[in-house]
Amino acid sequence: MQKPIRKISLIILLIFILPIVVFFIYQFASLNETEKEINEIYTQQLEAILYSVNQYSEDVISSWVNDINTILYSTNFQKKNIKNFLRENNSIKSIFVFENTLSNISVFNNSDTKNISKNTIQKILNDKKPLIEKLQNYLEVGYQKIEPLGKFTSNDLYVCLFPLHTKENERDIGGIIFNPSQFIKENLSGKISQTAGDKFVLTILNKYENEILHSTENITIDKILLKKPLWLLPGLSLGIKMKSGSIEELTSQRFYKNLLILASLLLILIIGMGLIYYNLRKELRLTQLKSDFISNVSHELRTPLSLISMYSETLALSRIKDEEKKKEYYSVIHNEANRLSKIVNSVLNFSKIEAGIKKYNFQSYSLLEINNDVLNTYDYHIKSKGFSYTFNSAKKIKNIICDKDAISESIINLIENAIKYSNGKKEFEIIIASNKKGVYWEIKDFGVGIASKDQTKIFDKFYRVSSGLIHNTKGTGLGLSLVKQIMDAHNGDVTVKSSIDIGSTFRLQFNKSFPD
Ligand code: ADP
Repeated sequence: MQKPIRKISLIILLIFILPIVVFFIYQFASLNETEKEINEIYTQQLEAILYSVNQYSEDVISSWVNDINTILYSTNFQKKNIKNFLRENNSIKSIFVFENTLSNISVFNNSDTKNISKNTIQKILNDKKPLIEKLQNYLEVGYQKIEPLGKFTSNDLYVCLFPLHTKENERDIGGIIFNPSQFIKENLSGKISQTAGDKFVLTILNKYENEILHSTENITIDKILLKKPLWLLPGLSLGIKMKSGSIEELTSQRFYKNLLILASLLLILIIGMGLIYYNLRKELRLTQLKSDFISNVSHELRTPLSLISMYSETLALSRIKDEEKKKEYYSVIHNEANRLSKIVNSVLNFSKIEAGIKKYNFQSYSLLEINNDVLNTYDYHIKSKGFSYTFNSAKKIKNIICDKDAISESIINLIENAIKYSNGKKEFEIIIASNKKGVYWEIKDFGVGIASKDQTKIFDKFYRVSSGLIHNTKGTGLGLSLVKQIMDAHNGDVTVKSSIDIGSTFRLQFNKSFPD
């Protein structure tokens, strides 16, 4: 039987376990790769968010440029229109327009800004000639580019330049001087909060990235995951952080989660394979036991049948004249016929129990009486085999609820085993007593004993210990299995204590609680 099991183990190993392990290793390796990719995706997502905020701020300034362009070059230009525009857009401190030769500068200051004069503007424009040229070239190809110039002189205002579409083919340039904090507060903060939503924290940092000028939530600078410059406010930068933690934390959380899922799957698969293997092994063992059983039973049947046939034939031929001899032959026939019927009965009984059609007739009996009946019937048989036994019982033994025939059969099976496996020590002891659980019947022999590894298996159907006496001792491997089934039906149990070459003690334990 070892061979097919080894074969099955090898098949399971090759077909299932190996591919699973290879798959697991592959998945484990690719997990790392996947996490790297996810890390990149996260970073790209953060970059896209920062890009959208930058784009928005450019859109705001572009719309200002459009408005300024429209107001300045409308057919009925009025100064009040530009004043209204400045009033509506408080963060703009000044608007100026000039011809590309840097001449004809007009300045429109917001009401709260007084000190921005033509001269100051002239000063910052003096070295910007190449840039101005470039901006106008852009306009000629249809692109109204806005060019940030950074800080305006020493105060905290920012400047941008842009080309203007004029009525005639003049080449005018416009400029906006605006307050960055006000711009952030009035024009950007709404968009920033909306973009941040409940997943991100968005911040604006100062030039040295050591101070947070604006943030959707209170955070420290070191928690910011990604920083990008604000296009139109040179020196300032945008920062972003995920509320749920750093990218590394998120990816490592995902990594361990995936690893756990993978490991659990592997475990389930291995347990599944283990169960399949276990069941196959059991089935194989049972098949082997069944075939042993068939050969055992056939052997068991053949011996008495051939004895009966031989002795009866001799008698029928009237060859035996001696009356004593005839008696002996009759008794052999009788005994062998009894043996046959016992074997057939136990097989029939067993198959009835197996099929679940065995009916028990439960009544209140004295275990003492059942035992005495069995011993009275078997006394001659036991002694004729040269065995002696002792019987001890407690004085008061409560009745038990049981099926008398089934319990008698169990007792007979255990006595026969004590005889079969005595190994020449022709004695045994029977005890009836009570313990905490209830009443018990016990038989102690001094025979071959049972190795501890076999002590649980002997109650399995068809199981016979495959060493020593077994080869010489007849049996079907059904006796103890029958006893166990009977005791189960009585809500009791059969147990064994045994040592090799010292002997065995089998106990039938009846529980008080049965039946309530
Ligand atoms: P059988 O006796 O027909 O083989 P059983 O089911 O009665 O089947 O017993 C199963 C096995 O348990 C036996 O083959 C034997 O190896 C072992 N066994 C049972 N009773 C004893 C005993 N009293 N002493 C030693 N071994 C025993």
